[in-house]
Amino acid sequence: MSLDTHDIDPRRGTGAERPTRELVRLEQVSKRFGDRTVLDRLDFSVDAGKHVTLIGPSGSGKTTILRLLMTLTKPDEGTITVDGRTLYPAPEKQVREIRKNIGMVFQQFNLFPNMSVLRNITEAPVTVLGMSKDAAEERARELLELVGLSEHLDKHPGRLSGGQQQRVAIARALAMRPQVLLLDEVTSALDPELVAGVLDVLRDIARSTDITMLCVTHEMNFARDISDQVLMFDSGRVIEAGPPEKIFSEPEHDRTREFLSAVL
Ligand code: ADP
Repeated sequence: MSLDTHDIDPRRGTGAERPTRELVRLEQVSKRFGDRTVLDRLDFSVDAGKHVTLIGPSGSGKTTILRLLMTLTKPDEGTITVDGRTLYPAPEKQVREIRKNIGMVFQQFNLFPNMSVLRNITEAPVTVLGMSKDAAEERARELLELVGLSEHLDKHPGRLSGGQQQRVAIARALAMRPQVLLLDEVTSALDPELVAGVLDVLRDIARSTDITMLCVTHEMNFARDISDQVLMFDSGRVIEAGPPEKIFSEPEHDRTREFLSAVL
């Protein structure tokens, strides 16, 4: 289908060389909660259009990274840049501007329960981006088609299954035309039979758009399918990074091997 957005890249999948551009960079980022160090002088970067998956044991700091990028929490030390602009440390106005380019989908869908599906998707583009109602609705209809929910646009979220609600949440995040989409264990709260539908939608988005994705997931097959790079976390540090075929088939680190044998 056509999405009529800048995030469609006609070269994707054709094998054409795309110039790399660093979109997200964390440098020496540390985060503490009380006397617990959750992220420990973390360095990593993500190039535009890439899909990076964060794996590792529970409590290793993966979600905290997404929350830092979404500015839901602040680092204690270090710098974070998005598309060459400093997100941290930065004045509040700059933070708000950069944040418009970042979308996040949470484990709990957090839809507005008193609004229709369509309105859930159009609300932020109209109020935050100043888009006209008509343009926002046109875009919302395209996105609902992308996530397979065109026939549900007038319903309230409470009438949808968890999987459908999560697909609305994905459409809502995309409606803001973010450069970066953060996905935080988006299938963890779903009944098992609803997981595949959501992952299929995300696979489709990964394939058909040039959006940059950072994804925390326990779905290792999904991670293997969509990732350009997999980062293995342990105790707030990246202990191993590489393409999925390397991390899943020939991990170098004992901790990675132990983790994968426990979850695969
Ligand atoms: P992961 O996503 O790898 O499971 P998290 O980033 O969610 O790990 O959490 C890392 C650690 O930080 C955990 O020990 C968690 O309990 C702690 N933590 C996260 N958020 C808070 C918070 N707001 N207050 C206190 N501790 C927190």
